[in-house]
Amino acid sequence: MRAAVFTELDGPLSVEEVKPYEPGPRDVVVRIIASGICHSDLSVMNGTLPMPPPGILGHEGAGVVEWVGEGVTRMSVGDRVIGSFIPVCGTCWYCKNNQSNLCEQTFMVSVPHADRADGTPLPAMTGLGTFAEQMTCHEMSLVKVETDLPDEQLALIGCGVTTGVGAALNTAQVEPGSIVVVIGCGGVGQAVIQGARIAGASRILAVDPVALKRDTAMKLGATETINPDDGDVATQVIMATGGRGADYVFEVIGNVDLILQAFMCTRPGGTTVAVGVPRTDTMVSIPSFPLVLQEKKLIGCVYGSAKVLRDFPRLIGLVESGKLDLSDMITKTIVLDDINEGFRAMKDGEVIRSVIVNS
Ligand SMILES: [Zn+2]
Ligand SMILES: [Zn+2]
Repeated sequence: MRAAVFTELDGPLSVEEVKPYEPGPRDVVVRIIASGICHSDLSVMNGTLPMPPPGILGHEGAGVVEWVGEGVTRMSVGDRVIGSFIPVCGTCWYCKNNQSNLCEQTFMVSVPHADRADGTPLPAMTGLGTFAEQMTCHEMSLVKVETDLPDEQLALIGCGVTTGVGAALNTAQVEPGSIVVVIGCGGVGQAVIQGARIAGASRILAVDPVALKRDTAMKLGATETINPDDGDVATQVIMATGGRGADYVFEVIGNVDLILQAFMCTRPGGTTVAVGVPRTDTMVSIPSFPLVLQEKKLIGCVYGSAKVLRDFPRLIGLVESGKLDLSDMITKTIVLDDINEGFRAMKDGEVIRSVIVNS
């Protein structure tokens, strides 16, 4: 099978033939039909997230089960599945305590399931490795879904949509009538905006320097936009909210300076949610006065605090009922061979999401 192999930091991915291993017990072989290009893949390629090369990236994908190993109980051949970039083992403390997005198996699944032509083992990002024609993964990294939605939309549920909508609905639990600010309007940011709209926010301020992203935000539920190039974002938000600040502010870039900025946009008693993933060796520094004496809350968010076995079907239901728009989040579909062009388009701010579709 062919895969886009991560061979060197800051270099392009190499689309080449790789040799999959014989699948083991509880392994599932999935024919990947669609895979979104997410900013976290780029974060691995540039060293922001620690996963040294070589390896197969891609963690936002959907496809069809082609083969199941001994002991697989969650799915059968022919089922449609979405990859979950955090597994759900079902037996660890977090899985049993309704926080499967913190499953203790998270860092145990990134094992190789294929070799390069020269025999070098290729670990798979988050146990998936969706930038390929096929992936072999543990059944705990997959969620079976029943729907007629297209695979390119299902792929987005694997990361960006669940993270963003979940940040609004699960992590922050946005209340109806509230004022929401979203800093960074890529795929995840657009999903936060939609989550806030679904939650009944009265105002949603979308912050991004790229016009395409502000325009898409307005289509998907934002009520107004802020261009950071027009001046300090916190000042603009404070002015737009009668001097008080917003009830919920989401940072969806992964930049510690912007997390501070998001905190400064938040009203006393309000909540700042850090959704973007900063470099793992950085520190966030915030002023102590508003933290304590203004009761501002700063909370982290991984995978939208989702319980994927519950939330993937829920999100599909929201799409099917027209409340969640995934088609406007997909700017273009491309083929695996054009993956590096897909990353270029992301870096240049030309797309909300590119999705690789295998024919
Ligand atoms: Zn992602
Ligand atoms: Zn677990």
